[in-house]
Amino acid sequence: MDYFDLQLHGDGGDFNDEFGLGRSDEALLTEQHGVRTPASLRPRQIICPALTTAPNGQVGTPMESHWSAERQVTMSVSTTFQPTAMLDVTFPDIALVSSDQILFYVHRTRLLAASANKFKDLINPYSPTDGTGGPPTVVLPESADVLNIVLHTIYYLPAAQFLPSFETVSLGLESLLKYGFAPQLYATPSQPLFSLLLSFAPHRPIDTFALAAAYGLEDVAVASSAHLLSFSLSTLTDELAERMGSIYLKRLFFLHLGRMEALKALLLAPPRRHPEARDCDASQQTTLARAWALASAHLVWDARPNLSTHLLRATLLPLERGIECALCRQALHDRVVLLMIKWAAVKVRRKRCIDFGSLPMHLR
Ligand SMILES: [Zn+2]
Repeated sequence: MDYFDLQLHGDGGDFNDEFGLGRSDEALLTEQHGVRTPASLRPRQIICPALTTAPNGQVGTPMESHWSAERQVTMSVSTTFQPTAMLDVTFPDIALVSSDQILFYVHRTRLLAASANKFKDLINPYSPTDGTGGPPTVVLPESADVLNIVLHTIYYLPAAQFLPSFETVSLGLESLLKYGFAPQLYATPSQPLFSLLLSFAPHRPIDTFALAAAYGLEDVAVASSAHLLSFSLSTLTDELAERMGSIYLKRLFFLHLGRMEALKALLLAPPRRHPEARDCDASQQTTLARAWALASAHLVWDARPNLSTHLLRATLLPLERGIECALCRQALHDRVVLLMIKWAAVKVRRKRCIDFGSLPMHLR
């Protein structure tokens, strides 16, 4: 994620030493890669809560500020969620601090409106300030990378440009749930989280499917299932099976079994016969049907659910080499074309379908 250094006025002495939230040394200033914040952007004061954890697991109430005006403190701030970012109709009015001490300025109303547990009861809806006029600050145990995913999700902003790891996004989903946000509401096909999750599907298909299954992200699970056809079911671990749960585990097996059953059914019918002719009687046409059956059996024996239409064509179309009858050759060709179309239409995604009524009559 991107962030810049924000200079804050205040002593921060005890605060920094005790809680490590503010850093005033120059070495730290050069350590970050962002830009310095202009003075006009500096908040008047930053109020941070004590890090002592209450018995109920909540972060404690804001401590009283002991800062003096002489000393400046520098903290890193998210470039997206900075104090003057107009991500809503008003300026942000609460600061979240990640475990690695990055500030995120966000809107209390947005968090409270979407959260089912008042952001894990860390936000007081009746207290818009910390008591001294400054914005409330909440220190969270999540890292900045994880919090970045959470907040981008809540604001419906894309986070793929930060190239988060799969593990980071996974933790982001966990945190969404923890703070009272329903991940399902943010992972429909038109939303950035959907695209972010699906970006992992090509190289981590089973992990993406299991993650989607764990959080009931139906659209993500369906979309990522197209990448599961090459997955070997025998390599499925207990951990993944447990994570995806019985319903999605069943879907995974039925996806594979269903594809293979569909392939068998599609291959069952040989090329159509034509009326007996002088140069092509019933026995010759039976020879083609037998050759088709033999080639089909080989295909089914070796096939995997991700069998390509190209391989189907490459296996079956050469049967025409031994056929001299033009009608039989045409029947074989039509049969292979229809097989390819129907195999491509076999369900790998629930919403995928082909209108067979649009095909020529001889191919239906
Ligand atoms: Zn023929």
